[in-house]
Amino acid sequence: MIPYGRQEISDDDIEAVVNVLRSEFITQGPTVEKFEDELRNCCGASHAVAMSSATAALHLAYRSLGLTNGDIVWTTPITFVATANGAVYCGADVQFVDIDLATFNISVERLRERLEIASKNRKLPRVLTVVHLAGQSCDMREIRALSKEYGFSVIEDASHAIGGTYLQEPVGSCRYSDITIFSFHPVKIITTGEGGAALTNDPDLARRLRLLRSHGITRDPNEMKVPNGQPWYYEQIDLGFNYRLTDIQAALGQSQLKRLADYVSRRNQIAAFYTKRFENLSCEVQEILPSCRSAYHLFILRLSGSRTGNGADDRRVIIEDLRRNGVATNLHYIPVYRHPFYSKKGTDYGLFPNAERYYQTAITIPLFSSMSDREVEHVAHSVVAAFQKMG
Ligand SMILES: *Cc1c(COP(=O)(O)O)cnc(C)c1O
Repeated sequence: MIPYGRQEISDDDIEAVVNVLRSEFITQGPTVEKFEDELRNCCGASHAVAMSSATAALHLAYRSLGLTNGDIVWTTPITFVATANGAVYCGADVQFVDIDLATFNISVERLRERLEIASKNRKLPRVLTVVHLAGQSCDMREIRALSKEYGFSVIEDASHAIGGTYLQEPVGSCRYSDITIFSFHPVKIITTGEGGAALTNDPDLARRLRLLRSHGITRDPNEMKVPNGQPWYYEQIDLGFNYRLTDIQAALGQSQLKRLADYVSRRNQIAAFYTKRFENLSCEVQEILPSCRSAYHLFILRLSGSRTGNGADDRRVIIEDLRRNGVATNLHYIPVYRHPFYSKKGTDYGLFPNAERYYQTAITIPLFSSMSDREVEHVAHSVVAAFQKMG
């Protein structure tokens, strides 16, 4: 079975990890610092703070922005639940804004309409978290303009998008946001086993992210409440966590980061091949805006012109047909508001017609950088055959 995504571990990766295992530091130490330097350099941001996962990084992003009980956070419903969970950890109320059916990202038009209404009702969000679905950046310039107009902070959940660009600059530059998050889970573009990072250009946010990553403890006399000059002295000045990345993981990340450009090129090459092959099928692929180069974490297609009016039935036939041909598929994602944890207050699904349509019709097919040409051809052929069989 060809999976929808899979990591690639080279001999160099293994050697890098073994070298750390033979060294003095195995948890957060000099290799984490080097990995952070390389991350911020490759993205053009001033600070990078590596963490144990993107989920941890999202949690601390919300915390460092001061999110607290009763605050409102807006995000897209088409994302992994961790995007919203991080805000709930802080006691915030998470609300969703519908997506754009062509790009699958949060709809800027819907966002603008909702902000106008929320402004009149005095229910504006404190933070907006956008998600660069499948690796394509949202229209960040527009989103930043709205954030300035209405006074909310912006987090980019770029778990899918390291290596992508927006307006000729790397995703992660934080030019149009307060904080950008990456994930290094094995299905993502590069991996550290488990891991994530938060990037920012704001030194104050960077300081808070670092503090919260390690128990809220400081050894910097300038940050202490009652410094006593003793070499052993430290202070806990906030309620932090243990969200550290290890040097073992950072060594893997550093080694993988060297191949980021190659990975993203290969992913784009496969995506272009699929797009061409699927041109005449009754499906739509994600529209890529001229301002973006996608990192193509995922290849998602959407059934169009369904015979039944309910794409879900046709989709099931296609998914089963692909499975018989050894091609695994997936669905990214179930709208977050549909999960029982989030729907318990009785969400009206009718408020999100595009997310609902997407949920009925989307399929993720295999795309990862180590796919062979034969595997790519097999997937493309199987998809074409499955659609043609349906007529
Ligand atoms: C994978 C993912 C996360 C969580 O990443 P972890 O590193 O597994 O915590 C968050 N948001 C999105 C959009 C993701 O795809």
